[in-house]
Amino acid sequence: MFQVSLPKEEVEGFARKVLNWFDRHGRKDLPWQQSRDAYRVWLSEIMLQQTQVATVIPYYERFLRVFPDLKGLAEAPLDEVLHLWSGLGYYARARNLHRCAIAVQQDFAGLFPDEQSQLESLPGIGRSTAGAIRSFAFGQHAALLDGNVKRVLTRCFAVEGWPGSTPVLNRLWSLSEGLTPPRRTAAYNQAMMDLGSLVCTRSRPVCSQCPLEKQCRAAAQGNPQAYPQPKPKRVMPVRATRMVILRDGGGNVLLEQRPPSGIWGSLWSLPECPESEELSVWCLQHLGVKVIGTQTLPARRHSFTHFHLDITPVQLRVKYPNQRLMDAGGRVWYNLSSPENMGLPTPIARILRELAINNESNREIA
Ligand code: SF4
Repeated sequence: MFQVSLPKEEVEGFARKVLNWFDRHGRKDLPWQQSRDAYRVWLSEIMLQQTQVATVIPYYERFLRVFPDLKGLAEAPLDEVLHLWSGLGYYARARNLHRCAIAVQQDFAGLFPDEQSQLESLPGIGRSTAGAIRSFAFGQHAALLDGNVKRVLTRCFAVEGWPGSTPVLNRLWSLSEGLTPPRRTAAYNQAMMDLGSLVCTRSRPVCSQCPLEKQCRAAAQGNPQAYPQPKPKRVMPVRATRMVILRDGGGNVLLEQRPPSGIWGSLWSLPECPESEELSVWCLQHLGVKVIGTQTLPARRHSFTHFHLDITPVQLRVKYPNQRLMDAGGRVWYNLSSPENMGLPTPIARILRELAINNESNREIA
């Protein structure tokens, strides 16, 4: 039995209210709730990290159509996985998903383990995801603490400080573990996530419809939105890059595969010329082409969690071309009118779509 420094009646009353609310208002028809299969539970939990339910549903269903079981996913090329993930963001999740499937296949004979420490040893599975898998797939008494649960708990117990800091996180884990009931654990965990996403929302909590209103400290203070407290402010650095648009004789665009780690790891992107380099010299050295003209397209900003990236796409006219540049490997000519299935970062996919639309309208004018 977990311990928490709250009166026993409050602990029991908390779970009872949450479960009663779940029976009347909780979500019970989400696609991943129709099975206790650990593969499906795990897949949905990874997709739901940092992403809303409505966005995840079509990705989850498409993923399962292509990879109905773990073996198929483990044996698939990473590029196919990244392609299916394109647009969902946070691509480290997709790479970890693939690595995790391989590890389960190789180290656990294709079956997810049901122990916390074994689950946490797998790529992409942290303490909360392991708790979710244990409770949803294996029916165990295990707590979780995703963003929604953190919000409900910080408000209900007026927990001060930023939940990303270790002392606050420890306090929240001890609350979550102490309040999670040994019976109907899966329903309770689902209820807490639903409460966070449907009632105790980030900017407009509907306290009048919340089963915890009477005991909620933040509601009593009249300022639920003051919790959870934000991360201490830090100015986000801005990085700038030029992305080079080079076409072959047929109008196809050169893409390069990025290194496996770092931002957009293993995805396909436009070649990048650092701002500090002379464009024509860089193109000659890296792409083997002599630039005879350029056209700069409108810059656009893509924001990551820890920096902004300002992208300036530059179309090249070149003395063309040195086919040997393709010998470098990790490069493809991307056909704008019938694109292949490849993992593309969102801003690159957007640039390629714009180029394809321009191609089309030029063709119509001609
Ligand atoms: S009473 Fe309001 S602030 Fe408190 S947990 Fe419920 S919805 Fe959130």
